[in-house]
Amino acid sequence: MTDSGVMKAALVCGAGGFIGSHLVKYLKAKNYFVKGVDLKYPEFSESHADDFIIGDLRDPKLVDSLFDRGFDEVYQLAADMGGAGYLFTGDSDADIMHNSVLINLNVLKSCADRSIKKMFYSSSACVYPEYNQLDPGNPNCVEDTVYPAQPDSEYGWEKLFSERLYFSFMRNYGTDVKVARFHNIFGPEGTYDGGKEKVPAALARKVAQADEFGEIEIWGDGEQTRSFLYIDDCIEAVYRLMQSDFNGPVNIGSDQLISINNLAKQYLEISGKNLKVRHIEGPQGVRGRNSDNRLIFEKLNWKPKLSLRQGLEKTYCWISEQVLQSIPNT
Ligand code: NAD
Repeated sequence: MTDSGVMKAALVCGAGGFIGSHLVKYLKAKNYFVKGVDLKYPEFSESHADDFIIGDLRDPKLVDSLFDRGFDEVYQLAADMGGAGYLFTGDSDADIMHNSVLINLNVLKSCADRSIKKMFYSSSACVYPEYNQLDPGNPNCVEDTVYPAQPDSEYGWEKLFSERLYFSFMRNYGTDVKVARFHNIFGPEGTYDGGKEKVPAALARKVAQADEFGEIEIWGDGEQTRSFLYIDDCIEAVYRLMQSDFNGPVNIGSDQLISINNLAKQYLEISGKNLKVRHIEGPQGVRGRNSDNRLIFEKLNWKPKLSLRQGLEKTYCWISEQVLQSIPNT
């Protein structure tokens, strides 16, 4: 129940994905009625949704059929998505742009037709211009530096276009839209292998799989920097944004900058393994990226609760268990 004692209803698009499945759990704990939709069920645990539709959001008829009841809030997290190995090689650009734009067009149009009051859209730090992220020690990702636009990937261009699409619907149809730019969200129950995994999960898997004195590979020289936000902190920020009168766009991330080499070191310490690190050619994205959290702190009084180290420990623990379970018994 909400404070007023009325049960709210939410539709979560992308409810089978990493962030979406955690969000469903969170909303259920707050006593929402939750309907989820995705191409697939969550990979690592059962969905907590009251109703879960397996469906393709690129299909406008399917999207329209989801609204068999009213929803107080719609969370749109579905996207053709992956880590650097998927987003930055260029090989999947057409699919990434085509699929994600279609999803956003369909969901927005159906929401406007049904006069849905409140919508959340998950944009990305990938919208920020490459020219502000060349210095790994001092990247600039303040919200209003996004123009002149020069994202470093087609994925980023799609997110920027879709942000504009959401705000157009807000202006023309009165939908209360909330837009967040996520910066590298990580934690248990995220993809950790198969090519679509992101660096905190990929490194944890490599360390967990390596023999005691083996080696792990890092793409590039490892001096590229990023910040990483633990999933629970991300969900809390999304919810606060949704309940506020602020529309964004706003960064949701951590402002604790770390190089990929140092991230690997953290995992080596956590695992107690003494592994060599080998640097190889591979897609890396921008040289440096960090969340600037001044706006979200000012508007929502939000900052991450968990330290990076605490988040990495939880993530390593979960991924090493998965790796262990996947080794066939001899
Ligand atoms: P994810 O890939 O785990 O989740 C996305 C979900 O969308 C998947 O379950 C996928 O099956 C679903 N989906 C894709 N195409 C679909 C379709 N046609 N119909 C129905 N469902 C479809 O990714 P995530 O990490 O949970 O990210 C959620 C959102 O946040 C995405 O929009 C992503 O771009 C954005 N984001 C995430 C991060 C991050 O660090 N995880 C960073 C920036 C932005």
